[in-house]
Amino acid sequence: MIALAAALLLAAQPAITLDGTPGQGAAMTGRVPPGTTLTLNGQPVAVAPDGAFLIAFDRDAGPAATLLATLPDGRPLVRTLAIAPRAWRIERLPTLPRVSQPSAEFQRRRAPELAQIAAARDKASDAQGWRQRFVWPASGRISGLFGSQRIYAGEPGAYHSGVDVARPTGTPVAAPADGVVILAASTPFTLEGNLLMIDHGMGLNSAFLHLSRIDVKPGDRVAQGQVVGAIGATGRATGPHLHWGMKWHDARIDPLLLAGAMPQ
Ligand SMILES: [Zn+2]
Repeated sequence: MIALAAALLLAAQPAITLDGTPGQGAAMTGRVPPGTTLTLNGQPVAVAPDGAFLIAFDRDAGPAATLLATLPDGRPLVRTLAIAPRAWRIERLPTLPRVSQPSAEFQRRRAPELAQIAAARDKASDAQGWRQRFVWPASGRISGLFGSQRIYAGEPGAYHSGVDVARPTGTPVAAPADGVVILAASTPFTLEGNLLMIDHGMGLNSAFLHLSRIDVKPGDRVAQGQVVGAIGATGRATGPHLHWGMKWHDARIDPLLLAGAMPQ
């Protein structure tokens, strides 16, 4: 009798609950019965022992995504999510930019830097920051929006892959959520300068670029709000600012949607 009541109760509950709004560059958390396996557009999605999970959508994702759950009893459940498009800030310039040939020195250094970044992203940790409401690593004027793009004489340039916060060199940078340090550049990278990357678990990670100082090392556990470094202008930067990029697996996502409005 108790088992029947429990089964009825379970049947009455939606098997997939989602928190958040699907959209380009957005992340959502959700919950399924423990033991459920999950895919998003055919790619496996990790499910925590308590049934919680995280999904996110690339800047150019859409117009729909398919979430397929296979419940512990084998029942399949499909949810189709409409991915709302966003109006990215696009700037059209009439002429092509002057292209400078990358130097031999740049080309020699770049490949190992990209390999280090890829190796860091491949590191999975048991960090639980993905469950938290993210906070801004530094507060200040937003000087660059995620997803913005320049089009030169009809040729699209690469879009801006993070959000920029303009503050003076030395301004502390705090961890936006709990995590594990997966990369802390020991020497400045050509473009990113002093680069710090933090894994928040479940394939979600943050990258902080152009730092003047890094206070943590690979493998360190960091707590939300903990100072991990300071703003700078190292690498390719025209002035001191924090560039905060976020990825969920291969999807580039908008940190602003996780951290919410900039506090005054
Ligand atoms: Zn930037």
